[in-house]
Order: sequence, then structure tokens, then C-alpha cells
Amino acid sequence: DLGPTNIMRLRFGFGGVEPRPIRYSINDECDSCGECVEVCTVEAIISEDQNVIDPKHCLECGACYDVCPVNAIQKSDSANA
Ligand code: SF4
Repeated sequence: DLGPTNIMRLRFGFGGVEPRPIRYSINDECDSCGECVEVCTVEAIISEDQNVIDPKHCLECGACYDVCPVNAIQKSDSANA
């Protein structure tokens, strides 16, 4: 991401296969402490009453998952998604 705005990412599948959803999401345990917002290098986390990951920008790096102090970041299994 070298430009002034975030790169938009498009998910698609070949042969009618549905693209899997992004692996990370934020659940109701989020208290909007901001730790995840600080570590996200692509500004993919929208800071609101409860933070939300914008799938158009998320790189699925897992940095937010690693730092969340209340375990509010959920990581789905890509094999099941
Ligand atoms: Fe940002 Fe990485 Fe978390 Fe996606 S997984 S929201 S890119 S810190």
C-alpha cells in the first residue's frame, strides 16, 4: 500500500466456486480499545462503537488477532469457510 488511499481488494472464484469470506471478524466482546486499529497497517479496521473489519481492505495478516486484549477478533478456519 504505497498510495494515499487503501487498495481495494476483490474476492472471486473460478468455475462457479464461491469466494470464501475473510478469515477475521470482530465479535461483541470488542470494547473499542483501539489496539487493533493501531496495528493494522492497511487501515482496514473501522473504529465505531464496536470496531469492524472492512473486507475490501483486510490482508488477513492476523496482527489484530494477536493484539486484542479481550479476544474479540475471531479467526475462521479457511477449510470450513
Ligand atoms: Fe488489518 Fe491484518 Fe487485522 Fe486484516 S487481519 S484487519 S489487515 S490487522
